Amino acid sequence: MIKSSVLKGLTFVALAGVLSGCGTTTHQSKSSTASQKSSQTQTKRQKLISELPKGVKSSDSDLVLVNKWHKRSEMSFSKSSVNGIAVRSSIVKPLEAFLAGAKKAGYPTTVVSGYRSVAYQKEVWDQSIQTYENQGKSAKQALKLTKEFVAVPSGSEHETGLAVDIMNTHWYNTHGNQLLSSSDKNKGQQWLINHAADYGFVLRFPKDGVKSTGIDYESWHFRYVGKKSAAFMVKHNLTLEQYVSLLQAREKAGK
Ligand SMILES: [Zn+2]
Repeated sequence: MIKSSVLKGLTFVALAGVLSGCGTTTHQSKSSTASQKSSQTQTKRQKLISELPKGVKSSDSDLVLVNKWHKRSEMSFSKSSVNGIAVRSSIVKPLEAFLAGAKKAGYPTTVVSGYRSVAYQKEVWDQSIQTYENQGKSAKQALKLTKEFVAVPSGSEHETGLAVDIMNTHWYNTHGNQLLSSSDKNKGQQWLINHAADYGFVLRFPKDGVKSTGIDYESWHFRYVGKKSAAFMVKHNLTLEQYVSLLQAREKAGK
Protein backbone atom coordinates (compact mmCIF):
# COMPACT_ATOMS: atom_id res chain seq x y z
CA MET A 1 0.00 0.00 0.00
CA ILE A 2 2.76 2.38 0.94
CA LYS A 3 4.70 1.24 -2.06
CA SER A 4 1.98 2.09 -4.54
CA SER A 5 1.32 5.49 -2.98
CA VAL A 6 5.05 6.27 -2.96
CA LEU A 7 5.27 5.37 -6.62
CA LYS A 8 2.08 7.19 -7.53
CA GLY A 9 3.56 10.24 -5.85
CA LEU A 10 6.74 9.91 -7.87
CA THR A 11 5.19 10.92 -11.16
CA PHE A 12 3.91 14.17 -9.71
CA VAL A 13 7.00 14.89 -7.68
CA ALA A 14 9.04 14.17 -10.80
CA LEU A 15 7.05 16.66 -12.85
CA ALA A 16 7.30 19.36 -10.23
CA GLY A 17 11.02 18.72 -9.90
CA VAL A 18 11.63 19.01 -13.63
CA LEU A 19 9.67 22.24 -13.83
CA SER A 20 11.44 23.86 -10.92
CA GLY A 21 14.91 22.62 -11.79
CA CYS A 22 16.05 25.67 -13.72
CA GLY A 23 17.75 27.96 -11.22
CA THR A 24 20.19 30.70 -12.11
CA THR A 25 23.56 31.27 -10.55
CA THR A 26 25.30 34.57 -10.07
CA HIS A 27 29.06 34.84 -10.09
CA GLN A 28 31.22 37.25 -8.15
CA SER A 29 33.31 39.10 -10.68
CA LYS A 30 36.02 40.50 -8.44
CA SER A 31 38.29 38.01 -6.72
CA SER A 32 38.80 40.39 -3.78
CA THR A 33 35.07 40.26 -3.06
CA ALA A 34 35.23 36.48 -3.24
CA SER A 35 38.10 36.20 -0.76
CA GLN A 36 36.47 38.73 1.56
CA LYS A 37 33.34 36.62 1.41
CA SER A 38 35.22 33.42 2.17
CA SER A 39 36.87 34.90 5.25
CA GLN A 40 33.47 36.11 6.42
CA THR A 41 32.11 32.59 5.93
CA GLN A 42 35.06 31.24 7.91
CA THR A 43 34.39 33.60 10.82
CA LYS A 44 30.69 32.76 10.77
CA ARG A 45 31.57 29.05 10.89
CA GLN A 46 33.94 29.54 13.85
CA LYS A 47 31.22 31.44 15.69
CA LEU A 48 28.70 28.67 15.05
CA ILE A 49 31.16 26.02 16.26
CA SER A 50 31.69 27.95 19.48
CA GLU A 51 27.91 28.08 20.05
CA LEU A 52 27.18 24.38 19.39
CA PRO A 53 25.13 22.69 22.13
CA LYS A 54 27.25 21.17 24.86
CA GLY A 55 27.43 17.41 25.32
CA VAL A 56 26.36 16.56 21.77
CA LYS A 57 28.71 14.43 19.66
CA SER A 58 28.69 13.68 15.94
CA SER A 59 28.80 9.99 16.85
CA ASP A 60 25.55 10.12 18.90
CA SER A 61 23.12 7.50 17.61
CA ASP A 62 20.38 10.13 17.12
CA LEU A 63 22.63 11.96 14.66
CA VAL A 64 23.57 9.05 12.40
CA LEU A 65 24.03 10.42 8.89
CA VAL A 66 22.76 8.40 5.97
CA ASN A 67 22.62 9.89 2.48
CA LYS A 68 23.89 9.09 -0.99
CA TRP A 69 27.44 9.93 0.07
CA HIS A 70 27.18 8.12 3.42
CA LYS A 71 25.67 4.72 2.71
CA ARG A 72 25.09 2.29 5.55
CA SER A 73 24.34 -1.39 5.47
CA GLU A 74 21.38 -2.63 7.53
CA MET A 75 21.61 -1.27 11.08
CA SER A 76 20.53 -3.16 14.15
CA PHE A 77 18.22 -1.51 16.70
CA SER A 78 14.99 -2.26 18.48
CA LYS A 79 11.81 -1.34 16.60
CA SER A 80 8.29 -0.48 17.74
CA SER A 81 5.15 0.54 16.00
CA VAL A 82 3.42 3.93 16.09
CA ASN A 83 0.02 4.09 14.37
CA GLY A 84 0.92 0.86 12.58
CA ILE A 85 4.25 2.20 11.26
CA ALA A 86 7.59 0.78 12.40
CA VAL A 87 10.14 3.18 13.91
CA ARG A 88 13.19 2.94 16.15
CA SER A 89 11.92 2.29 19.68
CA SER A 90 13.88 5.24 21.06
CA ILE A 91 11.69 7.76 19.17
CA VAL A 92 8.29 6.35 20.10
CA LYS A 93 7.74 8.83 22.95
CA PRO A 94 8.82 12.01 21.13
CA LEU A 95 6.95 10.94 18.00
CA GLU A 96 3.75 10.27 19.92
CA ALA A 97 4.09 13.63 21.65
CA PHE A 98 4.61 15.36 18.27
CA LEU A 99 1.50 13.72 16.79
CA ALA A 100 -0.54 14.46 19.92
CA GLY A 101 0.58 18.10 19.81
CA ALA A 102 -0.60 18.42 16.20
CA LYS A 103 -3.92 16.80 17.02
CA LYS A 104 -4.44 19.08 20.00
CA ALA A 105 -3.77 22.09 17.78
CA GLY A 106 -6.58 20.85 15.52
CA TYR A 107 -4.48 19.08 12.89
CA PRO A 108 -4.74 15.29 12.93
CA THR A 109 -1.90 13.56 11.09
CA THR A 110 -1.17 10.39 9.16
CA VAL A 111 2.18 8.66 9.58
CA VAL A 112 2.80 7.43 6.04
CA SER A 113 6.17 5.79 6.41
CA GLY A 114 8.85 5.13 9.01
CA TYR A 115 11.55 2.50 9.17
CA ARG A 116 12.34 0.81 5.85
CA SER A 117 14.90 -1.96 5.47
CA VAL A 118 17.69 -1.75 2.91
CA ALA A 119 16.00 -4.61 1.02
CA TYR A 120 12.72 -2.69 0.89
CA GLN A 121 14.45 0.46 -0.34
CA LYS A 122 15.99 -1.63 -3.11
CA GLU A 123 12.48 -2.77 -4.05
CA VAL A 124 11.21 0.85 -4.17
CA TRP A 125 14.22 1.76 -6.31
CA ASP A 126 13.67 -1.11 -8.77
CA GLN A 127 9.95 -0.41 -8.99
CA SER A 128 10.55 3.25 -9.72
CA ILE A 129 12.84 2.36 -12.63
CA GLN A 130 10.23 -0.10 -13.88
CA THR A 131 7.45 2.51 -13.62
CA TYR A 132 9.42 5.06 -15.65
CA GLU A 133 10.31 2.43 -18.26
CA ASN A 134 6.65 1.44 -18.51
CA GLN A 135 5.90 5.10 -19.19
CA GLY A 136 8.15 4.84 -22.25
CA LYS A 137 11.34 6.32 -20.77
CA SER A 138 14.69 4.85 -21.79
CA ALA A 139 16.67 2.85 -19.22
CA LYS A 140 19.06 5.80 -18.88
CA GLN A 141 16.23 8.31 -18.32
CA ALA A 142 14.48 5.98 -15.89
CA LEU A 143 17.67 5.71 -13.83
CA LYS A 144 18.24 9.46 -13.92
CA LEU A 145 14.68 10.23 -12.75
CA THR A 146 14.83 7.55 -10.09
CA LYS A 147 18.13 8.93 -8.78
CA GLU A 148 16.51 12.34 -8.49
CA PHE A 149 13.49 11.25 -6.47
CA VAL A 150 14.28 7.98 -4.71
CA ALA A 151 17.02 7.51 -2.16
CA VAL A 152 19.59 5.03 -3.37
CA PRO A 153 19.42 1.65 -1.50
CA SER A 154 21.64 1.85 1.61
CA GLY A 155 21.46 5.62 1.29
CA SER A 156 17.95 6.24 2.61
CA GLU A 157 17.45 7.82 5.97
CA HIS A 158 14.39 5.63 6.51
CA GLU A 159 16.85 2.81 7.21
CA THR A 160 17.80 4.54 10.47
CA GLY A 161 14.30 4.19 11.96
CA LEU A 162 14.68 7.86 12.98
CA ALA A 163 12.86 9.30 9.96
CA VAL A 164 9.11 9.53 9.47
CA ASP A 165 6.94 10.83 6.66
CA ILE A 166 4.06 12.67 8.31
CA MET A 167 1.15 14.28 6.50
CA ASN A 168 -1.79 16.34 7.59
CA THR A 169 -4.55 13.75 7.32
CA HIS A 170 -7.12 15.97 5.65
CA TRP A 171 -4.67 17.18 2.99
CA TYR A 172 -3.33 13.69 2.41
CA ASN A 173 -6.78 12.16 1.99
CA THR A 174 -7.98 14.87 -0.36
CA HIS A 175 -4.86 14.72 -2.55
CA GLY A 176 -4.90 11.06 -3.55
CA ASN A 177 -2.68 9.95 -0.64
CA GLN A 178 0.36 11.52 -2.22
CA LEU A 179 3.50 13.04 -0.80
CA LEU A 180 3.75 16.41 -2.51
CA SER A 181 5.82 19.42 -1.49
CA SER A 182 2.80 21.66 -2.15
CA SER A 183 1.27 20.19 1.02
CA ASP A 184 3.14 22.99 2.81
CA LYS A 185 0.34 25.33 1.73
CA ASN A 186 -1.82 23.50 4.24
CA LYS A 187 -2.03 24.98 7.75
CA GLY A 188 -1.74 21.56 9.41
CA GLN A 189 1.43 20.72 7.49
CA GLN A 190 2.80 24.16 8.37
CA TRP A 191 2.10 23.43 12.03
CA LEU A 192 4.18 20.25 11.78
CA ILE A 193 7.05 22.08 10.08
CA ASN A 194 6.98 24.97 12.57
CA HIS A 195 6.70 22.86 15.73
CA ALA A 196 8.83 19.80 14.89
CA ALA A 197 11.85 21.11 16.82
CA ASP A 198 9.80 21.39 20.05
CA TYR A 199 9.64 17.59 19.96
CA GLY A 200 13.21 16.95 18.77
CA PHE A 201 12.47 16.63 15.05
CA VAL A 202 13.61 18.66 12.04
CA LEU A 203 12.32 18.96 8.50
CA ARG A 204 15.18 17.01 7.01
CA PHE A 205 15.11 18.20 3.39
CA PRO A 206 14.44 21.95 3.44
CA LYS A 207 13.98 24.06 0.30
CA ASP A 208 17.38 25.69 0.54
CA GLY A 209 19.24 22.56 1.63
CA VAL A 210 19.25 20.58 -1.64
CA LYS A 211 22.98 21.14 -2.26
CA SER A 212 24.02 19.68 1.08
CA THR A 213 21.36 16.95 1.46
CA GLY A 214 21.32 15.77 -2.17
CA ILE A 215 17.52 15.46 -1.92
CA ASP A 216 14.84 17.82 -3.23
CA TYR A 217 12.57 19.71 -0.83
CA GLU A 218 10.22 17.43 1.09
CA SER A 219 7.54 19.03 3.25
CA TRP A 220 6.68 15.71 4.92
CA HIS A 221 9.95 14.02 5.90
CA PHE A 222 10.84 14.59 9.56
CA ARG A 223 13.96 13.32 11.26
CA TYR A 224 14.52 12.87 14.97
CA VAL A 225 17.78 14.45 16.17
CA GLY A 226 16.92 15.31 19.80
CA LYS A 227 15.63 18.62 21.19
CA LYS A 228 19.00 20.35 21.73
CA SER A 229 20.20 19.64 18.22
CA ALA A 230 16.84 20.40 16.60
CA ALA A 231 16.65 23.81 18.30
CA PHE A 232 20.18 24.69 17.15
CA MET A 233 19.64 23.46 13.58
CA VAL A 234 16.40 25.42 13.19
CA LYS A 235 17.82 28.59 14.78
CA HIS A 236 20.78 28.58 12.40
CA ASN A 237 19.02 27.07 9.41
CA LEU A 238 21.37 24.06 9.17
CA THR A 239 20.87 20.72 7.47
CA LEU A 240 21.97 17.58 9.32
CA GLU A 241 24.99 17.36 6.99
CA GLN A 242 26.06 20.91 7.93
CA TYR A 243 25.37 20.38 11.63
CA VAL A 244 27.35 17.12 11.82
CA SER A 245 30.23 18.77 9.97
CA LEU A 246 30.32 21.55 12.60
CA LEU A 247 30.29 18.99 15.43
CA GLN A 248 33.16 17.11 13.76
CA ALA A 249 35.14 20.34 13.46
CA ARG A 250 34.64 20.98 17.20
CA GLU A 251 35.77 17.44 18.03
CA LYS A 252 38.80 17.76 15.76
CA ALA A 253 39.77 20.93 17.58
CA GLY A 254 39.62 18.87 20.77
CA LYS A 255 36.86 20.90 22.43
ZN1 LIG B 1 10.76 10.16 3.88
